[in-house]
Amino acid sequence: ATYDVIASPLGSDGGQGVVVVFTDITEREQMGQIRRDFVANVSHELKTPLTALLGFIETLKGPAREDAAARERFLEIMGREAERMNRLVSDLLSLSRVEAEERMRPEKRVDVAALLRSSVQALRPLAVDSRVEMVLEGAEGAVHVLGDADQLTQVFHNLIENGIKYGGTGGVLRVEMTESPRELAFRGPGVRIDVIDRGEGFDPVHIPRLTERFYRVDSHRSREMGGTGLGLAIVKHIVNRHRGRFRIDSEPGKGSTFSVMLPVA
Ligand code: ADP
Repeated sequence: ATYDVIASPLGSDGGQGVVVVFTDITEREQMGQIRRDFVANVSHELKTPLTALLGFIETLKGPAREDAAARERFLEIMGREAERMNRLVSDLLSLSRVEAEERMRPEKRVDVAALLRSSVQALRPLAVDSRVEMVLEGAEGAVHVLGDADQLTQVFHNLIENGIKYGGTGGVLRVEMTESPRELAFRGPGVRIDVIDRGEGFDPVHIPRLTERFYRVDSHRSREMGGTGLGLAIVKHIVNRHRGRFRIDSEPGKGSTFSVMLPVA
């Protein structure tokens, strides 16, 4: 630990004693560092697509002006880069909203089973495009929790989308919901949602850092997949807000399981 030390001589004759005030500034310093890293990361993440856009604009003004095929291709890439920036800004806004609300316990009763069914349905087209077979189990009835419907939907959305993106083409993605009358984590009734893929997986050393903003196992792959690196950070904050638990398990080459446990209302 580092300390603020304020030392001052006591007495007018000078130097009979000192007053030393110890304040632990380690945490303050760390917060400052985290904030600086965050700003640097955001700037870098925004600058990359922006640089590409500016480059293509110059090319379109000059050499590609008369080349219809090249123009078409460049506009396509520019659209993708602009979408990336849009996703990044949306995720940043979500993250800051979720962080601001983290201490406010949600009070509405919501049916998580229905939210999970809707998320699976909404992401089916993406699964079909990626040739992933998505199987939903155990979410037939109604299960109520005190929650924020939009935020819980975002949790399911992020985990399922990751499962599709990283779960491997041609694979099976299982989404399972299990109710338990005595979930150990809450010493009361709970519901658990598992998103299980049989994709590439990753070394478990990454697990503790995966919910950090912009942490990625493979940056190149994440960017190629259109990822922002913020999805799991958002999930963590939303689950915390719901007094739930978030668990990650993975084995390289075998696949990963992302689990959310929520207390049942
Ligand atoms: P991203 O936008 O990069 O997907 P996330 O915060 O959602 O950001 O995930 C962080 C990182 O965790 C990803 O970049 C990826 O490396 C890893 N990851 C997330 N989900 C999976 C998964 N189902 N299988 C393998 N790796 C995953």
